[in-house]
Amino acid sequence: MQSTPPRHTETLADPAPSLVAPSGSTDEAWEAVRAQVRGCTRCPLHSTRTQGVFGVGSREAQWLVVGEAPGAEEDRRGEPFVGRAGHLLDAMLRSIGLSRTTNVYIANVLKSRPPGNRDPKPEEVAACLPYLLEQIRLLRPRVMLAVGRIAAQNLLATDVPLGRLRGRVHHFGELNTPLIVTYHPAYLLRSPGDKRKAWEDLKFARSVFRQLQST
Ligand code: URA
Repeated sequence: MQSTPPRHTETLADPAPSLVAPSGSTDEAWEAVRAQVRGCTRCPLHSTRTQGVFGVGSREAQWLVVGEAPGAEEDRRGEPFVGRAGHLLDAMLRSIGLSRTTNVYIANVLKSRPPGNRDPKPEEVAACLPYLLEQIRLLRPRVMLAVGRIAAQNLLATDVPLGRLRGRVHHFGELNTPLIVTYHPAYLLRSPGDKRKAWEDLKFARSVFRQLQST
């Protein structure tokens, strides 16, 4: 089932005043945003994080995976999804032919770790979202996969529970990029009984992507 694009994506797409869209080549633009994340003090999380966690993967990727926020391991190593949940995410992606080393880009809604892995606060999301929006603008993914409630609800600007966001194609932003929702791998580690449903979501996402390629 296709859903209509959410009205609020226009508001989300507004860059925050201090995030100036860089000019120049695409590589320069990526590096400019990375530098902005590195030096970011837009929210108090900068004082408790080890480093900003920008994103990882191919800048040519047609797939974008969006998670919530760095955990302890990600904060230490500066790369998204490198802890236990990350290993499961890699396995999930591998099952549909995707790898962070070749054909997928992975980023989080928040670039800084919330202490104790608490949920991001709305004002933290508001401060950080422009970075993700800039990454999306530069990458121009053909398909987006939101993993977990926080990523899904913030990208779609909704409070609909994750279970009701699964199993359909949403659309993100001005380019109406197809967006599919699935469980967060950290949740699946706690609730392995739902892995089967996550596999259904991944197959669904792959079928949406294949359909796009054939048109
Ligand atoms: N969980 C996330 O949502 N993102 C990470 O980078 C790590 C764990």
